[in-house]
Amino acid sequence: YEMSMAQLRMLEVLGRGQYGVVHKVFHVPTRTQMALKEIRLELNKRSLQQIIMELDVLHKARSPYIVDFYGAFFVESCVYYSMEYMDCGSLDRLCPEGVVEPVLGCIALSVVRGLQFLKDELNIIHRDVKPTNILVNSRGQVKLCDFGVSGELNQSLARTHVGCQSYMAPERIIGAVGPDGYTIQSDVWSLGLTIIEVATGRFPYETAGFANVFDQINAIVNGRVPQLPADSFSEAACGFVQQCLDKSPAKRPNYQSLLDHSWLQEAAAAAPDVDMDAWAKAAHNAFLARSQHPPSQTPPPP
Ligand code: ATP
Ligand code: MG
Repeated sequence: YEMSMAQLRMLEVLGRGQYGVVHKVFHVPTRTQMALKEIRLELNKRSLQQIIMELDVLHKARSPYIVDFYGAFFVESCVYYSMEYMDCGSLDRLCPEGVVEPVLGCIALSVVRGLQFLKDELNIIHRDVKPTNILVNSRGQVKLCDFGVSGELNQSLARTHVGCQSYMAPERIIGAVGPDGYTIQSDVWSLGLTIIEVATGRFPYETAGFANVFDQINAIVNGRVPQLPADSFSEAACGFVQQCLDKSPAKRPNYQSLLDHSWLQEAAAAAPDVDMDAWAKAAHNAFLARSQHPPSQTPPPP
């Protein structure tokens, strides 16, 4: 069916990104809650139409590791994209202090399975693997969103990209590969950084201050590769991340080798015993409590 704004009741704002707002909405004809993402673009009608057409492929993207797509349309110069509402939000909000290894293993397993599905079933490179694009629901499911299905949209976003925290692989920064600098291996690099951030609660490169954007780029290309802290995570976990973060893209494992890695094999075996829905609900409640009572300034010592 065709989806339009008239069928949607706007509920609260779920978050804001570089290109627009994501709202929770109620789709009246199906009586379903959805998330509606707005992407502001300076494009002509033909390009917008092209994007909507290309997004249609998403109707085929049915996987437990991919956020369901419901439909897309445009109004003036905004593309609207409606998807499954994930009631615990994105990973960046759920692990300010990191997560324990069994939870990390389950998350990594879902993300790698989702990335493999995109590649094998739809021949898609994600292009934007990072904690804000990994969503969680209160059933403990972990799913990917915001992957690059539409060539037209990819190009237009690339033209306006102003990112600061960079999950970009070194070869993309130096422009060494591919017609648009993207290969499947670049996603594996971003996966490695994402796992460290989820594990520790911190993006592994320094991010403070404007001048540091250049320092950060320099650190990614020339600096030492980040690692999982060996005192809190197993050798298998550290080894897995180290393989993802090889500066040489050709040496990074493909998704099947990642799934065959002992760490994910163990995670898959242990998954039935990990209470992911309890973790998701507790982490989401902690997020809500933090956003309602922002930490007060600690008073100066007497
Ligand atoms: P960027 O613009 O740099 O890619 P982003 O991924 O945070 O950052 P958006 O994709 O616009 O930006 O999403 C904004 C926020 O909305 C996300 O961080 C996430 O917390 C929330 N969000 C997005 N999609 C959903 C969804 N389907 N269900 C619930 N929350 C969502
Ligand atoms: Mg996003």
